[in-house]
Amino acid sequence: MVTAAGPPRSLTASDLDRPIREALPELARGAGAFHRLGIDTPRQALFHLPFRYDDFSDLRALGELLPDEKQSARVRITSVKVEKGFGRKPQRVIAQLADDTGSAEAVWFGRRFVETRLHPGDEVIVSGKVTLFGWRPQFTAPDFSPVGSTSIHTARVVPVYPLAGGATQKRVRELLARVLDRCLGLVDDPLTAAERGDLMPLADALRTVHFPEDAADVRPALDRLAFDELLALQLTLAQARAARAEQLAPAIGVPPEQLEAIIGALPFALTGDQRSAVSEIVADLADERPMRRLLQGDVGSGKTAVAAVALAAACRSGWQAALMAPTEILARQHHGGLEPLLSGMGVRVEFLSGSLPAVRKREIHSALEAGEAEVVIGTHAVISEGVAFRALGLAVVDEQHRFGVAQRAALQAKGGSREPHVLALTATPIPRTLALTFYGDLAISTIRELPPGRHPIRTEIRDRRALPRIQAFLASEAAAGRQVFVVVPLIVESEALEAASAEAEAERLRAALPDLRIGLVHGQQRASDRDATMQAFAAGELDLLVATTVIEVGIDVPNASVMLVEDAERFGLAQLHQLRGRVGRGEHRSFCILLSDAVDDRSRERLRVLSGSSDGFEIAEADLLLRGAGDVLGTQQSGLPPLRVASLFDPRHLALAERARELAARLVTADPELALRPRLARMREDFAPLAEEGDAA
Ligand code: ADP
Ligand code: MG
Repeated sequence: MVTAAGPPRSLTASDLDRPIREALPELARGAGAFHRLGIDTPRQALFHLPFRYDDFSDLRALGELLPDEKQSARVRITSVKVEKGFGRKPQRVIAQLADDTGSAEAVWFGRRFVETRLHPGDEVIVSGKVTLFGWRPQFTAPDFSPVGSTSIHTARVVPVYPLAGGATQKRVRELLARVLDRCLGLVDDPLTAAERGDLMPLADALRTVHFPEDAADVRPALDRLAFDELLALQLTLAQARAARAEQLAPAIGVPPEQLEAIIGALPFALTGDQRSAVSEIVADLADERPMRRLLQGDVGSGKTAVAAVALAAACRSGWQAALMAPTEILARQHHGGLEPLLSGMGVRVEFLSGSLPAVRKREIHSALEAGEAEVVIGTHAVISEGVAFRALGLAVVDEQHRFGVAQRAALQAKGGSREPHVLALTATPIPRTLALTFYGDLAISTIRELPPGRHPIRTEIRDRRALPRIQAFLASEAAAGRQVFVVVPLIVESEALEAASAEAEAERLRAALPDLRIGLVHGQQRASDRDATMQAFAAGELDLLVATTVIEVGIDVPNASVMLVEDAERFGLAQLHQLRGRVGRGEHRSFCILLSDAVDDRSRERLRVLSGSSDGFEIAEADLLLRGAGDVLGTQQSGLPPLRVASLFDPRHLALAERARELAARLVTADPELALRPRLARMREDFAPLAEEGDAA
């Protein structure tokens, strides 16, 4: 590495946020490599964290090297040989190594000029992966440094960074070591000693996560950074909450006798949980503070019925209400179910979706603007430009996790000077620990009790050898007039691959079960084609529907009696539970077959949770323990922010999140804009993905 001439100039704190080229001219040659890693300033470099470590701190004797492990040894070079490459064969440098316990060799490929830095008789420390050839250990392309020198690459715990743009691990490590060297002293801790408590000071934590003296130090250092990340998030949430506290919603008073009349008009008696949810919602509506309530309950637990009561109550009290569903087919189903109920109560209901003819859309728009239409049910078309309400008082969002933050914000803006109250329905239960921490400002109503008369769904785990018998079973169910869902394996990397696998599976089933009418839906189809196929299935025109998870938030087909999920181990338990909820909605005996060839204990154990429980909350908690929060909810689906350092899987970090929440509440109450604490106000920039998400929150 070339060092710049002259002593480096002294830096000030503001240099942390200047371009690296200017702040650290001696690293100008590394600026390109930094830029390709998304790093433009010294501060960003400090927060470019390793994603793992290689522990080379333990020096092994050559006679004790283990195969297939990364290890370090202190050795003497006995010979160095260069084998010229020719054709496609790269040059190789082979060094013979020895110590008192034995010998080994080290091999490097390509022209790396290793031979100019290694000479027979040198005492060096080599660190790298060891393979055994016969009984002879070989280091493959190890890092090395002379004995007695201090190296950041060998004989210690070595950080391993995410790479991009062709820079080597070694180069990135060297660049970061130099930034730390020059800049760590400039880092001011955003927390006071009292706020920090037992956590490490920030500068120490940064030094330690990059170049730990000891592997055991990494954990407390990461804890400190995790706390900062969680605090940054909680500050954002607390500020959003404070801003919202200024907003007003209409106070919608619902007289008790009116509420009873609405409930009495339902074709069934509400369950106890449904009744409590209704009371909680009605109490919120009467308040000027905007309601932010999540109604959670398993598929089929009767959330829609509760929403219907709320919609009717708002309208009876003179306000308009909207219900939005994530897909056209779901919106139509809601409309089909709610329209008779609501019009029976004298409420005028309209359906609105992007696929309606323009003339019809305009009619509905003007009816909403004039206040003639009281409830509108639809897709996100409901919140598109051009839709204005006379007096929107309540918005219900079905399957809220499918709606982006932006869409929710647009909906809230439809209320004019007063925001509408918002009720979100979800069948993906949020474990309590997470709910408290991340949805602290959301009130939650929960329905656990299912409406009477539901049959439990029999859940079986089978492997592929059982396919012929399973197919015979599907055929017999179809012959008895029932219908079948087949969900193809989840392929996270590519929707296109998933679609291809769905197509192949449909072909296979058509060949194996020629008497069945088989349809196919996947995410690569046009939405209208997909909807048409689902409608056909719902109408009983198909016996079997092959689908990717697009049916997860799905349609109500009471006649469907079998849910077959292929490669079930790839799905989250909560997701499997949702899929299972697609059957058992009618009077028929229903089955969920989890096809899995996974033999490892962990997969088996996970799937058994599902065959052993029909309680979505219990399943979600188990999934949280087995897989971690990000996976359970999927950060995109849950609206949980992508966290870089903190892990919601780690109970210690959940505790830190709680502590961060309390601190954030105190700080924002005292100083809403954090004007006196600029470092705190900027903290989320240190955790880049959070900053992006936070802007939308
Ligand atoms: P969710 O929206 O939670 O999936 P729904 O509200 O669609 O559930 O209800 C599922 C089915 O159960 C619907 O057919 C609905 O009419 C029926 N249902 C809801 N509540 C009750 C109840 N209290 N008693 C009987 N049936 C009910
Ligand atoms: Mg529903």
